[in-house]
Amino acid sequence: MQSLLAACHLAKFGMNENLLNIYYPLDKGMYKQYYAGPADGQKRQRVSEGWMRGKEAYLIVRAHRIFIHLFPGNEDYSRLISVTDLWCFFQAYVTLYPQDNMTPNRMHYMIEKVRARRLRIMKECCSCGKPFLLHEEEFTWLPCAVCEITKTALTAQNAQQIKAAK
Ligand SMILES: [Zn+2]
Repeated sequence: MQSLLAACHLAKFGMNENLLNIYYPLDKGMYKQYYAGPADGQKRQRVSEGWMRGKEAYLIVRAHRIFIHLFPGNEDYSRLISVTDLWCFFQAYVTLYPQDNMTPNRMHYMIEKVRARRLRIMKECCSCGKPFLLHEEEFTWLPCAVCEITKTALTAQNAQQIKAAK
């Protein structure tokens, strides 16, 4: 029952049917009843890895930190994630970061890419010391993407302050 409930919730938050069926096969009619489609202004997310690097890479860093907190002993993502696990993971994320463009589909792809070694698990960031994920094609000596966006935000803020002071 809990699994069914979790699956319905994930459908409501736009999880693709083919992905949802990996975790919990739902009857087609039932799925349609709950599926809300991508949220307003949100593009349908596919298997693409683009968002896991560059400007949006902080999403996987935040998600990874939540993941290891929620599922101790599964830091390497080797253990199975159930449909209820995925729902908890998603809920935790959107509670902490309601403004972020995170979806159950993206969470699924993130887990998949870690397992496929496309995302590296990094023990600690050279700047904040926290664990993070890094796309295989990024440079390993860089600080994590969360530090990067904080730095960018601070630089912009500084520039504004300097401008205002003039
Ligand atoms: Zn960092």
